[in-house]
Amino acid sequence: MATTRRWVYFFGNGKADGKGDQKELLGGKGAGLAEMTRIGLTVPGGFTITTEACAAYNDRGQKWPVGLEKQVRQMIAKLERTTKKKFGGGKNPLLVSVRSGAAQSMPGMMETILNLGLNDQSLEALATASNSLRFALDAYRRFIMMYGATAKGIDRGLFDEAFDRLKDTTTRNRLGRDRNEKVIDTDVSAEELSKLVDTFKDIYRERCGQDFPQNPMEQLRGAISAVFDSWMFDKAVTYRRVENITGLKGTAVNVCQMVFGNMGDDCGTGVCFTRDPSTGECVFYGDLLINVQGEDVVAGVRTPVPLAELKTLMPDVYRQLEAVRVMLEVHYKEMQDLEFTIERGKLYMLQCRTGKRSPQAAFKIAVDQATQKLMTTAAANRLVRRKFLPKKYATAASKPIITKEDAIRRIHAADVERLFYPVLDPNLTRDELDTRLVTEGIGAVPGAACGEVAFSATRAEKRAQTGAEVVLVRKETSPEDVGGMHAASGVLTATGGKTSHAAVVARGWGKCCIVGCDSLSIDYDAKQMRVEDHVIREGDTITLDGATGRVFEGATDLVRPKAPKEYQTLMNWCDAHRRLGVRTNADTPADAARAVELGAEGIGLCRTEHMFFDPKQPERIRSMREMILAEDEEARRKALEKLLPFQTSDFEGIFRAMNGKPVTVRLLDPPLHEFLPQADNPGGVQDVVDELRAGGKDVTPEDIIRRVEQLHEANPMLGHRGCRLAIAFPEILEMQVCAIIDAAIRCVKDGIKVFPEIMIPLSIDPKELGILVEHTREIADAMIKDRGVKLKYLVGTMIETPRAALLSGPIAGVSDFFSFGTNDLTQFTMALSRDDAGRFLPDYVDEDKAGVFGDDPFQSLDIEGVGKLVRMACRDGRSEKSNLKLGICGEHGGDPKSIFFCNEAGLDYVSCSPLRVPIARLAAAQAAIA
Ligand code: PEP
Ligand code: MG
Repeated sequence: MATTRRWVYFFGNGKADGKGDQKELLGGKGAGLAEMTRIGLTVPGGFTITTEACAAYNDRGQKWPVGLEKQVRQMIAKLERTTKKKFGGGKNPLLVSVRSGAAQSMPGMMETILNLGLNDQSLEALATASNSLRFALDAYRRFIMMYGATAKGIDRGLFDEAFDRLKDTTTRNRLGRDRNEKVIDTDVSAEELSKLVDTFKDIYRERCGQDFPQNPMEQLRGAISAVFDSWMFDKAVTYRRVENITGLKGTAVNVCQMVFGNMGDDCGTGVCFTRDPSTGECVFYGDLLINVQGEDVVAGVRTPVPLAELKTLMPDVYRQLEAVRVMLEVHYKEMQDLEFTIERGKLYMLQCRTGKRSPQAAFKIAVDQATQKLMTTAAANRLVRRKFLPKKYATAASKPIITKEDAIRRIHAADVERLFYPVLDPNLTRDELDTRLVTEGIGAVPGAACGEVAFSATRAEKRAQTGAEVVLVRKETSPEDVGGMHAASGVLTATGGKTSHAAVVARGWGKCCIVGCDSLSIDYDAKQMRVEDHVIREGDTITLDGATGRVFEGATDLVRPKAPKEYQTLMNWCDAHRRLGVRTNADTPADAARAVELGAEGIGLCRTEHMFFDPKQPERIRSMREMILAEDEEARRKALEKLLPFQTSDFEGIFRAMNGKPVTVRLLDPPLHEFLPQADNPGGVQDVVDELRAGGKDVTPEDIIRRVEQLHEANPMLGHRGCRLAIAFPEILEMQVCAIIDAAIRCVKDGIKVFPEIMIPLSIDPKELGILVEHTREIADAMIKDRGVKLKYLVGTMIETPRAALLSGPIAGVSDFFSFGTNDLTQFTMALSRDDAGRFLPDYVDEDKAGVFGDDPFQSLDIEGVGKLVRMACRDGRSEKSNLKLGICGEHGGDPKSIFFCNEAGLDYVSCSPLRVPIARLAAAQAAIA
C-alpha cells in the first residue's frame, strides 16, 4: 500500500519533529522554531508545512497535494490537545498565525495572517478569556483585513481608509481633539471597533460576493493556499532575481498558536539582533512596541522605542531576553535576528534566523566572535543565578564562540565589495554641510548616496536604467518596492525603525538607508516632499548620509571609505590560510600600486596593447599606426623604434611599483586592424590621416583604406593575432622583449628587484611556441650579458586555445609557465563569441527559460567543460615539467566559484582586476579550508 508523504512537522511543549538543519524542507523560520523548541526556549506550539508541499501545490496547478488536508487536521487536533484550547471555538479558543518562511530569508516578501480562527463566536470567548472586548475586536478587525487582503486579494488600502475615516471622525469627535492632534489606533474604543468590524465584513462581502468565512478550517485552508500562492507573486520573484536566489522549492507555511502583544501594558512585541547589525558592536540591539501586535513592528508602520527601554519597563523579561540572546548566538554561533512577543509578562520567541548585517558589521562580528567573549563572565553568571540561563551557555559565552576558519568562511564576496561603497568626503566641513541640511532621520545603513529623488520604485528602476543615480524616497517601503530599492543608490523613508522592511532589505545589500524621517511629508500625487516650507521635487538631487541619518540638498562629493580594522585582521587570517597566490591584471603603474595596496602579490597579466591608447600621448597610437601601415620590414622597424621608449618607460614604471613582485608581461595580442578605423568610416580615416601627417608622415585616405582592407578578416578572433603576429613579424616581439629587459635592467641597476615573466599569447603548437621562446631568450640573454647584470626572467605562454590545452605536455617542454586565458579558452571551447554571446546567453542561464548553465560561463568558469581542459593541461604540463608554474588571468580569476576550482586543480595563483583582489584572497582562503 502506498504511503502518503509527510507534509507537516509539529513543535510544542519542548518537543519538535523537525530540526534546525532542515532549512531546505522546513524553511528558515520553521527550522528555527523547531530548534528553539528543542533547546528549551518558550515557543508557542504549532506545525510547519514543508516547502515540498508548496512545490507540489504549484506543480498540481494550485491544488493541495494528496494527504495534506488530513495531516493538517491531525496537527490542529494535536495542537488543541497540547494547548487545551479549541480551534475557533469553545470557552478558550485556539487562534493561530499563518506565516510563510522559505529556506533563505526574503523579508516581508510573502504573506502572514494573524488571529486566524476568530469568528463571531470565538470573538466573544476571546473577549471573556482576555477580559477585554476591545482587545478581541481589535484582533478580529486585523484578521478580517489580513485574510481579505492576502487570501482574497482585496486592496488593503480599502480597509486602511475605512479605519482612518473612523479615527478621523467618530473617535476624534468623541475625544474632542482638534485637527492638529493625532488620533492613534489605541484611542479607538470597543464600540467603535465593533462598527469597524462590521464595515470590514461589508467590504469583504462586496469584494468577494460572499460572507466572511466563519468556519476555522475553511479559514485555515484559504490562508495556507494564500501563503503557497505568495511564492510566485511578482514581488517575491523579483526579490529572488535581485538576490540571485535559485534552486529553492517553495515556501514553508508555519501555523502557530497565537500569543498577543496587545493585551495591555504588560504586553509588547519586538524585533532584536544579538549584535548591532549596522556597526557590528557586541550590544543587544532592537526595537520594541508596547501593547501592539507583531506586524506593526516589521512593517515599519509605527516608530518603535529602543529595546533597552524594556530594562526599566519589564526588568525580568529583559533579563530572560538577554539569556535568549546568549543561548541562540552560542547555539547557532552566528548573530541572530529575533522576533518575540510578551503576553501578560510572559516572553515567547516567534522567530530566529541569521541576521542580515552591513558589510562593516559582517567583518566586525566575524572577528569579534573569533577573538572575544559575547558577555562578561559576571553578567552571564548573574543570568545563571536567576535561572534564566543554563550554565553551559554561560560558559560558552565567556570565550570566543567560533574559530578563525569559521570567521573566514562566514564572509561573502559581496561583503567585501560593499564595504567599499562610498561615504561622504571627510574633508567636507560641518558648516558646509549644515547649510544644505534638509532633515534628519535614523541612519539605518551607513554609507552615503547621492542622486535624484524618485518617489516610486518604478521610476527609480526606469531612471537607473538610463544610468542615473537615484535615491528612492517612500513613506515606508513594502516588498513591492524591492526592484526600485535595488536599482537606487540609497533609500529614504519617512517612517519605520532600524528593523523596518526598508532597513532590513537595504542592509542586506549594504545600501545606504535612512528611515523614520518623520519631519518629511511626502505627497506622491504632487511628486514632492516637504519639510516645513522647504519643497523638494521628483528629479531634484539630494544626498543621504547613512552614518548620521542626515539628508542634504544637492550633490556632495563621495569617496571610497577606509577599510575598518577588522577587515585588515580578517584579510590577514585569509592570507595565512590560503595556498593560492593572488595577483592582479594591471596595465599601468597606478593600477599596479592600487592592487598592491589591496593585497596583490604580483601582476598576472599586463596587456601591453592597452599602453598604446593613452589619449594624452597621441604619439603612441601614431607610432603604432605607422608600424601597421609599414609596407616592408625596414619601415616597420623604424616605427617600432619610436614605440620602444614608450614601452620601456611603462614597464619600468610598473616594475618599480611592484618592487620585487613578479610581473607577467604579455606580448602584443589583438589583431592589428583594431588599431585602425573602419574603412567605411570616412571621419575616422581622415582623423588618422591628419594625425599621421602631423607626425610628419605623408599618407592619403586611400593609403589607410587600402591597408585596412588588406588587414580585414572575416573572423578576426580566429585570425592574425596573438603569437601569430610575432611569427609573421618577429621585429614586434624583438622590440617588446628589448623594452621589458631594458626596463628590468634599469631597475636592477637602481637596486630594485625585478621578476619579469614574458608571456606569449594564443599559442597552438609546441614548435610555434619553441621558435618564439628561443628568439625571446636570445635577445634577453644577449642584453643581460652585455649590460653585465644578474636578472632572472621566465618565458611562458597562455593556454587559451583548446589545442594548446590538448598539447600541454609538449608545450610545457618549451615553456616556464602557463597562464590560463579563460576568456578565450571559454570562447573557443564553447564556440561562443565573448563579444556577442550576451544577446542569447542569458536564456541559457535563466532557470525559467532553458537553464542550461547555472552561471554565465564568461563570469564563472564552466567547470564541466572548460574546467576539464584546464585540469588536463595542469596534469600533462606538470608531468612534463614538475616545476611548471600555473596561473589564471581570464576574468574567472576574480570569481569565487572559479577560484575554488583553481585551488582544487592545483594552480599556483589567480590573477584578477585590482578591485577584486580582496575577494580573491578571501575565496582562496575559503577554498583552502573548505
Ligand atoms: C583571456 O583570454 O582570458 C585573456 C586573459 O586574454 P584577453 O582577455 O586579453 O583576450
Ligand atoms: Mg585572450
